[in-house]
Amino acid sequence: MEFCIPHKRELTQEERDLLSFFVKGQPAREAQIDRLKIVARCGCGECPTILFGESFDDEPLTTGYMEIADYWARATNGTLVGVVLFESGGRIAELEAVGWDGDVDGWPPVDALVPTNVAVASLDSPESDR
Ligand SMILES: [Zn+2]
Repeated sequence: MEFCIPHKRELTQEERDLLSFFVKGQPAREAQIDRLKIVARCGCGECPTILFGESFDDEPLTTGYMEIADYWARATNGTLVGVVLFESGGRIAELEAVGWDGDVDGWPPVDALVPTNVAVASLDSPESDR
């Protein structure tokens, strides 16, 4: 499976809200959100995972990832979903959804998100998405 496949569009309000939640109180990152475009999605073509650029001509950033937010929640279909935000070289790079006990068909509600390190520290690593 490819790591990611081309997928160019503007962010939805739901995606903006998730990013805003994850970088709240971090002005340098908050300032990036309005400039972000979606340039690729996860190679599975099914899950909501998206990769960002600052123009539709940008290649997705796929190396040098640093995790900047890591949450989980029950999605509306009942699946336990990990939601992880990565940056690369100071740029917001990827918003990843990982299904822990089922397929991910959408982002969980922002108000359901709980920091992973607090809530599920005892769980093993999530399975990769299927
Ligand atoms: Zn995927």
